[in-house]
Amino acid sequence: METRMYIDGAWTEAKSGLRCAVTNPANGETVAEVAYGGREEAREAIAAAHRAFGTWSRTSADERAELLRTMHRLVVENADRLARIMTLEQGKPFEEAKGEVVWGADFLQWYAEESRRVYGEIVPPSKETQRILVHRVPVGVVAAITPWNFPSSMITRKLAPALAAGCTVVVKPAPETPLSAIALFEVFEQAGLPKGVANLVLGEAEAIGREFLENPLVQKISFTGSTAVGKYLLEQSAKQVKKVSLELGGHAPFIVFEDADVDRAIEGLMINKFQNGGQTCICANRIFVHESIADDFARALVSRVQSLKVGSGMEPGVQMGPLIHEQALDKVHRHVVDAVSKGARLWCGGDRLKGDSYQSGCFYAPTVLSGVTSEMQIFHEETFGPVAPLIPFSTEEEAIRLANDTPYGLAAYFYTRDLARTMRVADRLEYGMIGINESVLGYVQAPFGGMKQSGIGREGGRQGIDDFLEIKYLNVNF
Ligand code: ADP
Repeated sequence: METRMYIDGAWTEAKSGLRCAVTNPANGETVAEVAYGGREEAREAIAAAHRAFGTWSRTSADERAELLRTMHRLVVENADRLARIMTLEQGKPFEEAKGEVVWGADFLQWYAEESRRVYGEIVPPSKETQRILVHRVPVGVVAAITPWNFPSSMITRKLAPALAAGCTVVVKPAPETPLSAIALFEVFEQAGLPKGVANLVLGEAEAIGREFLENPLVQKISFTGSTAVGKYLLEQSAKQVKKVSLELGGHAPFIVFEDADVDRAIEGLMINKFQNGGQTCICANRIFVHESIADDFARALVSRVQSLKVGSGMEPGVQMGPLIHEQALDKVHRHVVDAVSKGARLWCGGDRLKGDSYQSGCFYAPTVLSGVTSEMQIFHEETFGPVAPLIPFSTEEEAIRLANDTPYGLAAYFYTRDLARTMRVADRLEYGMIGINESVLGYVQAPFGGMKQSGIGREGGRQGIDDFLEIKYLNVNF
């Protein structure tokens, strides 16, 4: 496959000739070496996107929709290949990777449709000879920075609404997963992507980020990643008042009330917590279980967790792959050791997996802890790993207070059969997305995003295109 950047419609090596290895987290082997660019390549890509904006922003919505539909079709046709590439560099099981590729492709289709519904307004004027027209116009060149946990769909979720709105884009994927990005761009090229409309730069994150921040041709930065980097980008964007969308960390509460359907809650938790090895920003990080059912819940959960098949994502039947790298594994283990040292009960897991098939990979055993308290690190920080910390509570009031006791506000979940409680709790949880008797939130038609320090803006849904549009009002006198 291709291993270079994609700038102005051409596959491009780094000027320095530098390349960077991509590692398979399941066995530590080098999968490929890809071009390692920096500021100069970012500048060229931005210039190309800016040139292309002149024509792309003037195309009809139908034309843009047509390209997005072709991109969607080709991504779906290539789903097996794209999924295999993702598993090799990211680790998630093949079927899960394929699910991501197809879901990611859905954004291309959804925004092909939405591009035709970017309506303006005609506002009642103040004078007889006046008309007030409100247009919605593309913001301009967008710089998109994406993470490694969803290497395909986080690109399409930004790129699709940006292109649909008439913007042009420069994408910088995470250094851990550049191949998924390259493979997507190979498909986009086949689909007939016009020169410069979408560009891909790879290499030194800070240098590329600096160019995105300082180049006045970039009107908007759309970022998904850690809260620390998001805050830095927001702060630095102030210098040129760039528009910023941020999709940052979460610390999701998952509340199981005493009247819940416990089997359903466990089923939901298994999907939510162990998908992608717990490396998602919306996975349950604090599982509040009513004290009257806490022990039974723990026992039932542990039996499910112990039966999870962990291994290389290319092996059939594997349900959880490796973590992305050693630093990720170290952080997960630190959280577990800290909790156990402060009195948490370890039901299962609690260490990296050993044995022949796990030898050179970053495999951590799926872990269940109970008796977790506010003294423990895991109570306050996002673990980003396969650890389920159970925290007992006694009243609804207490559950809500604990759930909201965090600077994050991305996703929350609760399970109950009581309708009045459903409405009470949903009203009071300070979260952008709430799953009620449901643990899956990513749907193309729904607005994904967080409150508080979890971010700014929404991706997906009808709302997801708004972040790529500016308002221009015309006051016409005649
Ligand atoms: P993680 O710690 O999970 O890797 P990051 O926030 O560091 O999360 O990474 C998310 C994305 O942000 C990646 O594409 C990464 O390369 C990029 N990134 C990291 N630091 C910077 C920076 N200073 N400027 C621009 N992008 C950055």
